[in-house]
Amino acid sequence: MNPKRIRTLKSGEPGSGPVAYWMSRDQRVGDNWALLFARGIAEDAGVPLVVVFCMTDEFLGAGLRQYQFMLEGLQEVESSLFLKNIPFIFLRGSPGEEIPSFTDKHGIGTLVTDFSPLRPKREWTEKTASKLEIPFYEVDAHNIVPCWVASGKQEYAAYTFRPKVNALLPEFLVEFPELEPNSEFPETFAGKKVRGKKSRGKKARKEVEESSGSRNMVELLPERLKVADADPYFEPGHFFPGESAALKALETFLNERLDSYNALHNDPTKDVSSDLSPYLHFGQISAQRVALEVEKTGVDEESKAAFLEQLIVRRELTDNFCYHNRAYDSFESFPAWAKETLAAHRQDRREYLYTQEELEFGKTHDPLWNASQVQLLRTGKMHGYMRMYWAKKILEWSESPEKALETAIYLNDRYELDGRDPNGYVGILWSIGGLHDRAWREREVFGKLRYMNYSGARRKFDVDAYVAMYLPDE
Ligand SMILES: Cc1cc2nc3c(=O)[nH]c(=O)nc-3n(C[C@H](O)[C@H](O)[C@H](O)COP(=O)(O)OP(=O)(O)OC[C@H]3O[C@@H](n4cnc5c(N)ncnc54)[C@H](O)[C@@H]3O)c2cc1C
Repeated sequence: MNPKRIRTLKSGEPGSGPVAYWMSRDQRVGDNWALLFARGIAEDAGVPLVVVFCMTDEFLGAGLRQYQFMLEGLQEVESSLFLKNIPFIFLRGSPGEEIPSFTDKHGIGTLVTDFSPLRPKREWTEKTASKLEIPFYEVDAHNIVPCWVASGKQEYAAYTFRPKVNALLPEFLVEFPELEPNSEFPETFAGKKVRGKKSRGKKARKEVEESSGSRNMVELLPERLKVADADPYFEPGHFFPGESAALKALETFLNERLDSYNALHNDPTKDVSSDLSPYLHFGQISAQRVALEVEKTGVDEESKAAFLEQLIVRRELTDNFCYHNRAYDSFESFPAWAKETLAAHRQDRREYLYTQEELEFGKTHDPLWNASQVQLLRTGKMHGYMRMYWAKKILEWSESPEKALETAIYLNDRYELDGRDPNGYVGILWSIGGLHDRAWREREVFGKLRYMNYSGARRKFDVDAYVAMYLPDE
Protein backbone atom coordinates (compact mmCIF):
# COMPACT_ATOMS: atom_id res chain seq x y z
CA MET A 1 0.00 0.00 0.00
CA ASN A 2 1.22 3.49 -0.84
CA PRO A 3 3.06 4.80 2.27
CA LYS A 4 2.08 8.40 1.42
CA ARG A 5 -1.42 7.50 2.63
CA ILE A 6 -0.13 7.09 6.17
CA ARG A 7 1.03 9.61 8.75
CA THR A 8 2.67 8.85 12.06
CA LEU A 9 0.86 10.71 14.84
CA LYS A 10 2.92 9.13 17.60
CA SER A 11 6.02 7.05 17.20
CA GLY A 12 7.32 4.56 19.72
CA GLU A 13 7.89 0.91 20.49
CA PRO A 14 4.81 -1.17 19.66
CA GLY A 15 3.36 -3.08 22.60
CA SER A 16 2.91 -6.85 22.40
CA GLY A 17 -0.93 -6.72 22.34
CA PRO A 18 -3.39 -6.60 19.43
CA VAL A 19 -3.39 -3.92 16.77
CA ALA A 20 -6.54 -1.77 16.94
CA TYR A 21 -8.15 0.17 14.12
CA TRP A 22 -10.18 3.04 15.58
CA MET A 23 -12.85 3.34 12.88
CA SER A 24 -14.43 6.74 12.65
CA ARG A 25 -15.08 8.31 9.26
CA ASP A 26 -14.71 5.18 7.13
CA GLN A 27 -17.37 2.83 8.40
CA ARG A 28 -16.87 -0.17 6.13
CA VAL A 29 -14.96 -3.42 5.95
CA GLY A 30 -14.26 -3.56 2.20
CA ASP A 31 -11.95 -1.17 0.38
CA ASN A 32 -10.71 0.51 3.54
CA TRP A 33 -7.04 1.53 3.50
CA ALA A 34 -6.94 2.21 7.25
CA LEU A 35 -8.24 -1.26 8.06
CA LEU A 36 -5.86 -2.83 5.54
CA PHE A 37 -2.89 -0.96 7.00
CA ALA A 38 -3.82 -2.10 10.52
CA ARG A 39 -4.16 -5.66 9.19
CA GLY A 40 -0.64 -5.48 7.72
CA ILE A 41 0.92 -4.34 11.01
CA ALA A 42 -0.93 -7.05 12.93
CA GLU A 43 0.27 -9.70 10.49
CA ASP A 44 3.90 -8.56 10.69
CA ALA A 45 3.75 -8.56 14.49
CA GLY A 46 1.89 -11.89 14.67
CA VAL A 47 -0.91 -10.40 16.79
CA PRO A 48 -4.68 -10.18 16.23
CA LEU A 49 -6.50 -7.21 14.76
CA VAL A 50 -9.47 -5.58 16.49
CA VAL A 51 -11.71 -2.72 15.39
CA VAL A 52 -13.10 -0.15 17.81
CA PHE A 53 -15.74 2.52 17.25
CA CYS A 54 -16.65 5.23 19.76
CA MET A 55 -20.00 6.97 19.41
CA THR A 56 -20.60 10.41 20.89
CA ASP A 57 -24.06 11.31 22.18
CA GLU A 58 -24.09 14.50 20.12
CA PHE A 59 -22.42 15.17 16.79
CA LEU A 60 -22.62 18.53 14.99
CA GLY A 61 -26.39 18.75 15.31
CA ALA A 62 -27.15 15.35 13.77
CA GLY A 63 -30.62 14.00 14.51
CA LEU A 64 -31.99 10.51 15.02
CA ARG A 65 -32.24 9.90 11.27
CA GLN A 66 -28.47 10.06 10.89
CA TYR A 67 -27.68 8.08 14.06
CA GLN A 68 -30.05 5.36 12.87
CA PHE A 69 -28.45 5.28 9.41
CA MET A 70 -24.99 5.08 10.94
CA LEU A 71 -25.82 2.41 13.52
CA GLU A 72 -27.50 0.11 11.04
CA GLY A 73 -24.41 0.46 8.88
CA LEU A 74 -22.21 -0.36 11.86
CA GLN A 75 -24.20 -3.49 12.60
CA GLU A 76 -23.30 -4.74 9.15
CA VAL A 77 -19.66 -3.81 9.80
CA GLU A 78 -19.76 -5.87 12.98
CA SER A 79 -21.23 -8.92 11.23
CA SER A 80 -18.76 -8.75 8.34
CA LEU A 81 -15.84 -8.43 10.75
CA PHE A 82 -17.15 -11.30 12.84
CA LEU A 83 -16.98 -13.56 9.77
CA LYS A 84 -13.30 -12.67 9.58
CA ASN A 85 -12.72 -13.39 13.30
CA ILE A 86 -12.16 -9.68 13.90
CA PRO A 87 -13.84 -8.31 17.03
CA PHE A 88 -15.77 -5.06 16.75
CA ILE A 89 -15.82 -3.06 19.98
CA PHE A 90 -18.49 -0.42 20.34
CA LEU A 91 -17.84 2.34 22.87
CA ARG A 92 -19.85 5.40 23.83
CA GLY A 93 -18.51 8.69 25.14
CA SER A 94 -15.86 11.17 24.07
CA PRO A 95 -13.28 9.43 21.86
CA GLY A 96 -10.45 11.58 23.24
CA GLU A 97 -11.08 9.89 26.63
CA GLU A 98 -12.50 6.51 25.65
CA ILE A 99 -9.98 5.47 23.00
CA PRO A 100 -6.87 5.95 25.20
CA SER A 101 -8.55 4.16 28.08
CA PHE A 102 -9.58 1.32 25.74
CA THR A 103 -6.01 0.90 24.46
CA ASP A 104 -4.77 0.88 28.04
CA LYS A 105 -7.32 -1.59 29.32
CA HIS A 106 -6.80 -4.08 26.47
CA GLY A 107 -3.05 -3.69 26.16
CA ILE A 108 -3.29 -2.55 22.53
CA GLY A 109 0.15 -2.61 20.87
CA THR A 110 -0.46 -0.20 17.96
CA LEU A 111 -3.36 2.11 17.12
CA VAL A 112 -4.47 3.14 13.63
CA THR A 113 -7.23 5.56 12.70
CA ASP A 114 -8.79 7.05 9.58
CA PHE A 115 -8.61 10.72 8.59
CA SER A 116 -11.12 13.55 8.73
CA PRO A 117 -10.30 17.24 8.24
CA LEU A 118 -13.16 18.33 10.51
CA ARG A 119 -12.41 19.81 13.94
CA PRO A 120 -14.06 17.17 16.14
CA LYS A 121 -12.06 14.23 14.80
CA ARG A 122 -8.86 16.27 14.73
CA GLU A 123 -9.35 17.25 18.36
CA TRP A 124 -10.08 13.65 19.43
CA THR A 125 -7.05 12.44 17.51
CA GLU A 126 -4.78 15.09 19.03
CA LYS A 127 -6.03 14.31 22.52
CA THR A 128 -5.60 10.58 21.97
CA ALA A 129 -2.05 11.05 20.64
CA SER A 130 -1.11 13.16 23.66
CA LYS A 131 -2.15 10.33 26.01
CA LEU A 132 -0.71 7.32 24.18
CA GLU A 133 2.66 5.68 24.53
CA ILE A 134 2.22 3.23 21.68
CA PRO A 135 2.61 3.98 17.95
CA PHE A 136 -0.41 5.76 16.50
CA TYR A 137 -1.00 6.15 12.74
CA GLU A 138 -3.51 8.04 10.63
CA VAL A 139 -4.50 6.77 7.18
CA ASP A 140 -6.49 8.76 4.63
CA ALA A 141 -9.02 6.10 3.69
CA HIS A 142 -11.60 8.61 2.42
CA ASN A 143 -9.88 10.48 -0.38
CA ILE A 144 -8.55 8.83 -3.49
CA VAL A 145 -5.51 11.11 -3.42
CA PRO A 146 -4.54 11.56 0.26
CA CYS A 147 -5.49 15.06 1.37
CA TRP A 148 -1.95 15.98 2.46
CA VAL A 149 -0.48 14.72 -0.82
CA ALA A 150 -2.99 16.40 -3.17
CA SER A 151 -1.93 19.89 -2.13
CA GLY A 152 0.05 21.55 0.65
CA LYS A 153 -2.15 24.64 0.76
CA GLN A 154 -5.71 25.87 0.62
CA GLU A 155 -6.60 25.81 -3.07
CA TYR A 156 -8.19 28.85 -4.66
CA ALA A 157 -10.74 27.04 -6.80
CA ALA A 158 -11.45 23.81 -8.68
CA TYR A 159 -9.31 24.98 -11.60
CA THR A 160 -6.19 25.23 -9.41
CA PHE A 161 -6.88 21.89 -7.68
CA ARG A 162 -7.95 19.82 -10.71
CA PRO A 163 -4.53 19.46 -12.42
CA LYS A 164 -2.84 18.48 -9.15
CA VAL A 165 -5.33 15.74 -8.32
CA ASN A 166 -5.63 14.44 -11.86
CA ALA A 167 -1.85 14.16 -12.14
CA LEU A 168 -1.78 11.97 -9.00
CA LEU A 169 -4.61 9.61 -9.98
CA PRO A 170 -2.41 7.03 -11.76
CA GLU A 171 -0.46 6.64 -8.51
CA PHE A 172 -3.45 6.38 -6.15
CA LEU A 173 -6.47 5.14 -8.12
CA VAL A 174 -5.50 1.48 -7.80
CA GLU A 175 -7.31 -1.76 -6.82
CA PHE A 176 -7.63 -2.76 -3.16
CA PRO A 177 -6.30 -6.05 -1.79
CA GLU A 178 -8.61 -8.43 0.10
CA LEU A 179 -8.80 -8.11 3.89
CA GLU A 180 -7.30 -11.23 5.47
CA PRO A 181 -9.08 -12.68 8.53
CA ASN A 182 -7.65 -13.24 12.02
CA SER A 183 -6.64 -16.91 12.31
CA GLU A 184 -9.06 -17.22 15.23
CA PHE A 185 -11.37 -14.96 17.22
CA PRO A 186 -9.13 -13.40 19.94
CA GLU A 187 -9.86 -15.01 23.33
CA THR A 188 -9.85 -11.79 25.36
CA PHE A 189 -12.59 -10.30 23.21
CA ALA A 190 -14.54 -13.55 22.82
CA GLY A 191 -15.22 -13.36 26.57
CA LYS A 192 -17.05 -10.11 26.04
CA LYS A 193 -19.61 -11.44 23.62
CA VAL A 194 -23.12 -10.60 24.81
CA ARG A 195 -25.03 -11.68 21.75
CA GLY A 196 -28.75 -11.57 22.44
CA LYS A 197 -28.31 -10.71 26.13
CA LYS A 198 -30.74 -8.12 27.48
CA SER A 199 -29.11 -5.22 29.30
CA ARG A 200 -30.16 -5.13 32.95
CA GLY A 201 -29.03 -2.24 35.10
CA LYS A 202 -25.95 -0.10 34.84
CA LYS A 203 -23.39 -2.90 34.98
CA ALA A 204 -25.05 -4.93 32.24
CA ARG A 205 -25.43 -1.88 30.03
CA LYS A 206 -21.76 -1.05 30.41
CA GLU A 207 -21.04 -4.58 29.23
CA VAL A 208 -23.20 -4.14 26.14
CA GLU A 209 -21.63 -0.80 25.32
CA GLU A 210 -18.16 -2.25 25.43
CA SER A 211 -19.16 -5.36 23.63
CA SER A 212 -18.19 -7.35 20.64
CA GLY A 213 -20.87 -9.42 18.94
CA SER A 214 -23.77 -7.36 20.32
CA ARG A 215 -26.85 -6.90 18.15
CA ASN A 216 -28.25 -4.19 20.41
CA MET A 217 -26.74 -1.08 18.91
CA VAL A 218 -29.83 0.30 17.28
CA GLU A 219 -32.02 -0.62 20.25
CA LEU A 220 -29.74 1.40 22.50
CA LEU A 221 -30.00 4.37 20.22
CA PRO A 222 -32.39 6.85 21.83
CA GLU A 223 -30.97 6.34 25.29
CA ARG A 224 -28.79 9.25 26.35
CA LEU A 225 -28.50 10.76 22.87
CA LYS A 226 -28.48 14.53 23.08
CA VAL A 227 -30.40 15.04 19.84
CA ALA A 228 -33.81 16.42 18.98
CA ASP A 229 -35.93 13.31 18.67
CA ALA A 230 -38.95 14.72 16.86
CA ASP A 231 -38.61 14.03 13.16
CA PRO A 232 -42.23 13.56 12.06
CA TYR A 233 -41.71 14.23 8.35
CA PHE A 234 -38.94 11.71 7.78
CA GLU A 235 -39.71 8.69 5.57
CA PRO A 236 -36.80 6.34 6.29
CA GLY A 237 -37.40 4.07 3.27
CA HIS A 238 -35.63 6.31 0.74
CA PHE A 239 -32.10 5.13 1.58
CA PHE A 240 -31.18 1.75 3.03
CA PRO A 241 -28.06 1.99 5.17
CA GLY A 242 -24.95 -0.18 5.06
CA GLU A 243 -22.12 -1.39 2.91
CA SER A 244 -24.13 -3.90 0.83
CA ALA A 245 -26.90 -1.37 0.19
CA ALA A 246 -24.23 1.12 -0.91
CA LEU A 247 -22.73 -1.34 -3.40
CA LYS A 248 -26.19 -2.15 -4.68
CA ALA A 249 -26.93 1.59 -5.11
CA LEU A 250 -23.69 1.95 -7.06
CA GLU A 251 -24.57 -0.97 -9.31
CA THR A 252 -28.03 0.43 -10.06
CA PHE A 253 -26.58 3.85 -10.81
CA LEU A 254 -23.98 2.43 -13.20
CA ASN A 255 -26.51 0.25 -15.00
CA GLU A 256 -29.44 2.64 -15.18
CA ARG A 257 -28.46 6.29 -14.77
CA LEU A 258 -24.79 7.12 -15.30
CA ASP A 259 -25.29 7.19 -19.07
CA SER A 260 -27.57 10.25 -18.84
CA TYR A 261 -25.66 11.96 -15.99
CA ASN A 262 -24.09 14.65 -18.18
CA ALA A 263 -27.35 15.68 -19.79
CA LEU A 264 -29.66 15.49 -16.78
CA HIS A 265 -27.86 15.65 -13.44
CA ASN A 266 -28.85 19.27 -12.87
CA ASP A 267 -32.54 18.56 -13.34
CA PRO A 268 -34.23 17.90 -9.98
CA THR A 269 -37.29 16.34 -11.62
CA LYS A 270 -35.09 13.58 -13.07
CA ASP A 271 -33.58 11.03 -10.78
CA VAL A 272 -30.19 10.55 -12.47
CA SER A 273 -27.61 11.49 -9.85
CA SER A 274 -25.94 8.62 -8.01
CA ASP A 275 -27.59 9.10 -4.58
CA LEU A 276 -24.30 7.90 -3.13
CA SER A 277 -23.63 10.88 -0.87
CA PRO A 278 -25.12 9.39 2.34
CA TYR A 279 -22.96 6.29 1.84
CA LEU A 280 -19.86 8.31 0.97
CA HIS A 281 -20.41 10.55 3.96
CA PHE A 282 -20.54 7.68 6.47
CA GLY A 283 -17.78 5.86 4.64
CA GLN A 284 -20.14 2.96 3.88
CA ILE A 285 -18.64 3.00 0.38
CA SER A 286 -15.21 4.15 -0.75
CA ALA A 287 -15.01 6.90 -3.38
CA GLN A 288 -12.10 4.96 -4.83
CA ARG A 289 -14.31 1.89 -5.38
CA VAL A 290 -16.91 4.11 -7.06
CA ALA A 291 -14.29 5.65 -9.38
CA LEU A 292 -12.79 2.25 -10.24
CA GLU A 293 -16.20 0.83 -11.15
CA VAL A 294 -17.14 3.93 -13.20
CA GLU A 295 -13.94 3.60 -15.19
CA LYS A 296 -14.80 0.00 -16.07
CA THR A 297 -18.19 0.84 -17.58
CA GLY A 298 -18.69 1.44 -21.27
CA VAL A 299 -21.18 4.30 -20.97
CA ASP A 300 -21.14 7.80 -22.49
CA GLU A 301 -17.64 9.26 -21.97
CA GLU A 302 -18.91 12.76 -21.22
CA SER A 303 -21.15 11.41 -18.50
CA LYS A 304 -18.26 9.52 -16.95
CA ALA A 305 -16.09 12.63 -17.01
CA ALA A 306 -18.83 14.85 -15.56
CA PHE A 307 -19.49 12.39 -12.76
CA LEU A 308 -15.80 11.86 -11.92
CA GLU A 309 -15.32 15.64 -11.81
CA GLN A 310 -17.89 15.78 -8.98
CA LEU A 311 -16.78 12.61 -7.24
CA ILE A 312 -13.07 13.35 -7.33
CA VAL A 313 -12.22 17.00 -7.99
CA ARG A 314 -15.18 18.71 -6.31
CA ARG A 315 -15.38 16.29 -3.41
CA GLU A 316 -11.67 16.15 -2.61
CA LEU A 317 -11.44 19.95 -2.91
CA THR A 318 -13.77 20.19 0.09
CA ASP A 319 -11.41 18.18 2.28
CA ASN A 320 -8.61 20.45 1.04
CA PHE A 321 -10.50 23.52 2.25
CA CYS A 322 -11.51 22.16 5.66
CA TYR A 323 -8.04 20.72 6.26
CA HIS A 324 -6.24 23.97 5.53
CA ASN A 325 -8.82 26.26 7.10
CA ARG A 326 -9.90 25.28 10.59
CA ALA A 327 -12.53 28.07 10.54
CA TYR A 328 -14.24 26.31 7.60
CA ASP A 329 -17.77 26.98 8.86
CA SER A 330 -17.46 30.71 9.64
CA PHE A 331 -17.83 34.07 7.89
CA GLU A 332 -14.09 34.60 8.57
CA SER A 333 -13.18 31.91 6.07
CA PHE A 334 -15.02 33.52 3.12
CA PRO A 335 -12.61 34.86 0.46
CA ALA A 336 -11.64 38.52 1.06
CA TRP A 337 -13.56 39.82 -1.99
CA ALA A 338 -16.75 38.12 -0.78
CA LYS A 339 -16.44 39.44 2.79
CA GLU A 340 -15.92 42.91 1.40
CA THR A 341 -18.87 42.88 -0.98
CA LEU A 342 -21.24 41.28 1.55
CA ALA A 343 -20.19 43.90 4.12
CA ALA A 344 -20.93 46.68 1.64
CA HIS A 345 -24.49 45.35 1.31
CA ARG A 346 -25.20 44.68 4.99
CA GLN A 347 -27.73 47.49 5.24
CA ASP A 348 -29.63 46.65 2.03
CA ARG A 349 -33.37 46.20 2.51
CA ARG A 350 -34.41 42.53 2.47
CA GLU A 351 -37.76 42.03 0.78
CA TYR A 352 -38.47 38.92 2.87
CA LEU A 353 -37.08 37.91 6.24
CA TYR A 354 -37.88 34.47 7.63
CA THR A 355 -37.29 32.93 11.02
CA GLN A 356 -35.40 29.66 11.28
CA GLU A 357 -38.68 27.88 12.07
CA GLU A 358 -40.45 29.24 9.00
CA LEU A 359 -37.57 28.01 6.88
CA GLU A 360 -37.32 24.69 8.68
CA PHE A 361 -40.89 23.74 7.83
CA GLY A 362 -40.94 25.22 4.32
CA LYS A 363 -43.24 28.16 5.09
CA THR A 364 -41.91 30.81 2.70
CA HIS A 365 -43.72 32.59 -0.16
CA ASP A 366 -41.65 30.58 -2.70
CA PRO A 367 -43.13 27.14 -3.58
CA LEU A 368 -39.91 26.04 -5.26
CA TRP A 369 -37.89 26.68 -2.12
CA ASN A 370 -40.56 25.09 0.09
CA ALA A 371 -40.62 22.00 -2.13
CA SER A 372 -36.85 21.59 -1.77
CA GLN A 373 -37.10 21.90 2.02
CA VAL A 374 -39.90 19.31 2.08
CA GLN A 375 -37.77 16.99 -0.07
CA LEU A 376 -35.07 17.33 2.59
CA LEU A 377 -37.42 16.79 5.54
CA ARG A 378 -39.03 13.75 3.96
CA THR A 379 -36.21 11.95 2.20
CA GLY A 380 -33.06 13.15 4.00
CA LYS A 381 -31.49 14.26 0.71
CA MET A 382 -32.18 17.39 -1.29
CA HIS A 383 -31.31 17.36 -4.99
CA GLY A 384 -27.88 18.90 -5.70
CA TYR A 385 -29.11 21.66 -8.00
CA MET A 386 -31.75 22.71 -5.48
CA ARG A 387 -29.14 22.91 -2.69
CA MET A 388 -27.54 25.89 -4.45
CA TYR A 389 -30.85 27.68 -4.91
CA TRP A 390 -31.88 26.79 -1.35
CA ALA A 391 -28.75 28.24 0.27
CA LYS A 392 -28.72 31.39 -1.90
CA LYS A 393 -32.30 32.15 -0.90
CA ILE A 394 -31.41 31.72 2.77
CA LEU A 395 -28.83 34.48 2.22
CA GLU A 396 -31.43 36.66 0.51
CA TRP A 397 -33.99 36.18 3.31
CA SER A 398 -31.73 36.52 6.38
CA GLU A 399 -30.79 39.67 8.28
CA SER A 400 -27.03 39.10 7.75
CA PRO A 401 -24.64 36.69 5.99
CA GLU A 402 -23.60 35.34 9.41
CA LYS A 403 -27.21 34.50 10.27
CA ALA A 404 -27.71 32.93 6.83
CA LEU A 405 -24.63 30.78 7.31
CA GLU A 406 -25.75 29.65 10.75
CA THR A 407 -29.26 28.75 9.51
CA ALA A 408 -28.05 26.91 6.41
CA ILE A 409 -25.53 24.86 8.42
CA TYR A 410 -28.13 24.08 11.06
CA LEU A 411 -30.70 22.83 8.51
CA ASN A 412 -28.12 21.01 6.39
CA ASP A 413 -26.53 19.20 9.33
CA ARG A 414 -29.82 18.46 11.07
CA TYR A 415 -31.68 17.01 8.07
CA GLU A 416 -29.31 15.90 5.28
CA LEU A 417 -28.21 12.30 5.73
CA ASP A 418 -24.96 13.38 4.09
CA GLY A 419 -24.63 16.54 6.26
CA ARG A 420 -21.84 17.35 8.76
CA ASP A 421 -19.40 16.79 5.92
CA PRO A 422 -16.72 18.95 4.26
CA ASN A 423 -18.96 18.89 1.15
CA GLY A 424 -21.71 20.55 3.17
CA TYR A 425 -19.58 23.35 4.62
CA VAL A 426 -17.99 24.05 1.26
CA GLY A 427 -21.32 23.85 -0.64
CA ILE A 428 -22.82 26.36 1.77
CA LEU A 429 -19.76 28.61 1.65
CA TRP A 430 -19.80 28.49 -2.15
CA SER A 431 -23.44 29.63 -2.15
CA ILE A 432 -23.35 32.18 0.67
CA GLY A 433 -19.68 33.17 0.79
CA GLY A 434 -18.33 32.99 -2.79
CA LEU A 435 -15.83 30.24 -1.89
CA HIS A 436 -14.15 28.67 -4.95
CA ASP A 437 -16.23 31.03 -7.13
CA ARG A 438 -15.61 34.46 -8.69
CA ALA A 439 -17.23 37.88 -8.57
CA TRP A 440 -20.32 38.52 -10.74
CA ARG A 441 -22.45 41.56 -11.52
CA GLU A 442 -23.23 43.53 -8.35
CA ARG A 443 -26.78 43.59 -6.95
CA GLU A 444 -28.75 44.16 -3.75
CA VAL A 445 -27.96 41.98 -0.69
CA PHE A 446 -25.73 39.57 -2.67
CA GLY A 447 -23.19 42.21 -3.71
CA LYS A 448 -20.93 40.50 -6.25
CA LEU A 449 -21.90 36.96 -5.27
CA ARG A 450 -23.43 34.74 -7.93
CA TYR A 451 -27.20 35.15 -7.90
CA MET A 452 -29.89 32.53 -8.53
CA ASN A 453 -33.59 33.12 -8.92
CA TYR A 454 -36.91 31.51 -9.69
CA SER A 455 -37.02 32.50 -13.36
CA GLY A 456 -33.49 31.12 -13.86
CA ALA A 457 -34.69 27.81 -12.42
CA ARG A 458 -37.72 27.88 -14.74
CA ARG A 459 -35.40 28.14 -17.72
CA LYS A 460 -33.46 25.06 -16.56
CA PHE A 461 -36.18 22.58 -15.62
CA ASP A 462 -39.89 22.03 -15.10
CA VAL A 463 -40.33 23.89 -11.80
CA ASP A 464 -44.04 23.03 -11.53
CA ALA A 465 -43.32 19.33 -11.88
CA TYR A 466 -40.73 19.51 -9.08
CA VAL A 467 -43.09 21.44 -6.81
CA ALA A 468 -45.85 18.92 -7.50
CA MET A 469 -43.52 16.07 -6.44
CA TYR A 470 -43.23 17.47 -2.91
CA LEU A 471 -46.17 19.89 -2.51
CA PRO A 472 -48.97 18.26 -4.49
CA ASP A 473 -51.53 20.72 -3.11
CA GLU A 474 -49.74 23.91 -4.26
C1 LIG B 1 -25.65 24.41 -0.21
C2 LIG B 1 -25.06 23.06 -0.49
C3 LIG B 1 -24.99 22.13 0.53
C4 LIG B 1 -24.43 20.87 0.29
N1 LIG B 1 -24.37 19.98 1.34
C5 LIG B 1 -23.76 18.78 1.16
C6 LIG B 1 -23.60 17.89 2.24
O1 LIG B 1 -23.98 18.19 3.38
N2 LIG B 1 -23.02 16.68 2.00
C7 LIG B 1 -22.60 16.32 0.75
O2 LIG B 1 -22.07 15.22 0.58
N3 LIG B 1 -22.71 17.17 -0.29
C8 LIG B 1 -23.28 18.38 -0.12
N4 LIG B 1 -23.38 19.25 -1.19
C9 LIG B 1 -22.78 18.87 -2.49
C10 LIG B 1 -23.75 18.15 -3.47
O3 LIG B 1 -24.92 18.88 -3.61
C11 LIG B 1 -24.07 16.74 -3.00
O4 LIG B 1 -22.88 16.02 -2.75
C12 LIG B 1 -24.87 15.94 -4.04
O5 LIG B 1 -26.06 16.61 -4.33
C13 LIG B 1 -25.13 14.55 -3.50
O6 LIG B 1 -25.96 13.81 -4.34
P1 LIG B 1 -25.42 12.59 -5.22
O7 LIG B 1 -24.59 11.70 -4.40
O8 LIG B 1 -26.62 12.01 -5.90
O9 LIG B 1 -24.51 13.40 -6.22
P2 LIG B 1 -23.82 13.01 -7.61
O10 LIG B 1 -24.12 14.10 -8.55
O11 LIG B 1 -24.16 11.64 -8.01
O12 LIG B 1 -22.27 13.13 -7.28
C14 LIG B 1 -21.49 12.03 -6.81
C15 LIG B 1 -20.69 12.47 -5.62
O13 LIG B 1 -19.83 13.55 -5.97
C16 LIG B 1 -19.70 14.43 -4.88
N5 LIG B 1 -20.24 15.75 -5.24
C17 LIG B 1 -21.26 16.03 -6.08
N6 LIG B 1 -21.45 17.37 -6.14
C18 LIG B 1 -20.55 17.93 -5.33
C19 LIG B 1 -20.24 19.26 -4.97
N7 LIG B 1 -20.89 20.30 -5.47
N8 LIG B 1 -19.24 19.47 -4.09
C20 LIG B 1 -18.55 18.44 -3.58
N9 LIG B 1 -18.80 17.16 -3.87
C21 LIG B 1 -19.78 16.91 -4.74
C22 LIG B 1 -20.51 13.86 -3.75
O14 LIG B 1 -19.68 13.10 -2.93
C23 LIG B 1 -21.53 13.00 -4.47
O15 LIG B 1 -22.05 11.96 -3.68
C24 LIG B 1 -23.93 20.53 -0.97
C25 LIG B 1 -24.00 21.49 -2.00
C26 LIG B 1 -24.55 22.73 -1.76
C27 LIG B 1 -24.60 23.74 -2.87
